[in-house]
Amino acid sequence: MKTTLIKRGTVVTQKSVATADILVRGEQIQAVGDLRDETVDEVVDAEGMVVLPGAVDSHVHFNDRFMGTVSVHDYFTGTRAAAFGGVTSVIDFSNQGAKESLVSTIETKEREAEGETLIDWGIHPVITRPDTETLEQIPLVVEKGAPTIKCYMTYRDEGLLIEERDLRRISRALAEAGGLLMVHAEDDEMLADRVPQMIEAGRVEPIYHAKSRPIEVENRAVERCIAIAKATGGRVFIVHLASAEGLALIRAAQNEGTNVFCETCTHYLLFTEEMLKREDGIKWICSPPLRDQANQERLWQGIAKGTIAMVTSDDAAYSWEAKLLGKDRFDRCPNGIPGIEPRLNLLYSEGVVKGRLNLPQLAQIIAAAPAKFFGLWPKKGNLSKGADADIVLLNPNEKWTMNTQTLHMATDWSAYEGIEVNGKIDKVFSRGELIIDGETCLAQKGRGKYLHRRLEEFQA
Ligand SMILES: [Zn+2]
Repeated sequence: MKTTLIKRGTVVTQKSVATADILVRGEQIQAVGDLRDETVDEVVDAEGMVVLPGAVDSHVHFNDRFMGTVSVHDYFTGTRAAAFGGVTSVIDFSNQGAKESLVSTIETKEREAEGETLIDWGIHPVITRPDTETLEQIPLVVEKGAPTIKCYMTYRDEGLLIEERDLRRISRALAEAGGLLMVHAEDDEMLADRVPQMIEAGRVEPIYHAKSRPIEVENRAVERCIAIAKATGGRVFIVHLASAEGLALIRAAQNEGTNVFCETCTHYLLFTEEMLKREDGIKWICSPPLRDQANQERLWQGIAKGTIAMVTSDDAAYSWEAKLLGKDRFDRCPNGIPGIEPRLNLLYSEGVVKGRLNLPQLAQIIAAAPAKFFGLWPKKGNLSKGADADIVLLNPNEKWTMNTQTLHMATDWSAYEGIEVNGKIDKVFSRGELIIDGETCLAQKGRGKYLHRRLEEFQA
């Protein structure tokens, strides 16, 4: 087996920062420490580099059919962009079609991924039809390594909405099967009237997307999620939290011992709703919507305190043509922002360099926490002996401008256009193989492996 020594880097884990060498043997990390006397096949000089665990992005949408379009990130373009962004594991969502069984959604994704992926990938099934057959299949998808199921509290017209009584049944079934319920938390009843009211009043510009989904809409849904976790004893994970008031509710519930958790996403930390007032405001239409500055500061604090467990991308890469469906009416714009590649670089630049996070916190929110929450730990998100050698080398001294050309995403536009970034990913190893070297992607299509996940006893 090939051996590689990654020498004298600043090795960052979720717990520590130290100058060290990493010995990689085959696909795994064999040792971390002072290993300068080892005889190896290859030496990679990492002096001056920040060495991080390969990032885990547990919230991406590949080949996602939504609001009259389909995302342009598939298992090749999406995992390629991810790899450039230091991501070595992704977890995609498999939405249940109208007549589709829950198990077959995983098979659909296996076919999409076959021969395409550059990095390792897993699936969160999405329940859209909470009937008896679907509920009976929950233990089967858990067995297939997909123990984390997502439901939506809104998007009725898209056929995604799940009523509260069904969320409770699903949460109970998951608790019994050893799974976890992920929830898109926006209260549909509160939304239902507001959107048509805005449109009728001629308020069709992007900013009214945010005004039609005020923070109370999210807070009400967060309250309901907490109630579900309490009633069922199941673990509930709120995806893309954007509300600081919702965060306070979650913190209070956690303090009482309720198993409710949350993530936020890169764009809520980088942008405010002011972006929606721009002429190209449709770029920033996502749900829940972007909030104000004060709210954003509290999200950063929530990460530093650990109430927000992780930061994911919620990559939803719709083409510019598709986003333009909303140019005259915000409610026709596919909701979502392409962000699979920028996440690690931006969290380093805006988080660590600006003093909002320290390096171990960065390793925690991009790698260790998603690996632990979603059943990949200790293989993934970890720089210890025996873990998969998923390793990122970031050059802290490089400065660059983020835009469509400097990123490698398949979208023909970027919400992150013109952002000055401190630090740049230089090399990425996936299971011991160098897959990104500067501007070159060395990964062979199809090398990514299915992540058969299993939730252990809960470990925060
Ligand atoms: Zn999403």
